[in-house]
Amino acid sequence: MSAPAAVREGGCCCGALRFRVEGEPRRVGVCHCLDCRKLHGAPFMSFAVFDRAQVQVTGVFHRFHTQPAYLRCFCPTCGSHVFAEDAGGIELYHGGFDQPDLFPPTYELWTVRRESWLELPTLTEHHVRNREAR
Ligand SMILES: [Zn+2]
Ligand SMILES: [Zn+2]
Repeated sequence: MSAPAAVREGGCCCGALRFRVEGEPRRVGVCHCLDCRKLHGAPFMSFAVFDRAQVQVTGVFHRFHTQPAYLRCFCPTCGSHVFAEDAGGIELYHGGFDQPDLFPPTYELWTVRRESWLELPTLTEHHVRNREAR
């Protein structure tokens, strides 16, 4: 019998919007695109991608499209961006997890907008803009 899947939890800054995720992510990345920078007020954004069935969300969230099939979800009370979803699954942002250092990213998107001073040693895959296939 295999060991039970690891469970990790997280949520927004005020605690009203929470998530629980079972198992390991499909992939883990970093994005330097303008939308991610502006939405997070940060020089880049990082995320772990899970299947929808792995993630349980509790609490109220608002969402809006930054691309036709891509929804950014945030807490309407505190404004924290907590996750994004598209047809392929759910992206949970590193900053939303209660614990640090869970999933080191392996790829980056939109290096055309990357800060020159930023060093991210775990990355092995670099895309000038988006990945070809998701
Ligand atoms: Zn909140
Ligand atoms: Zn982005």
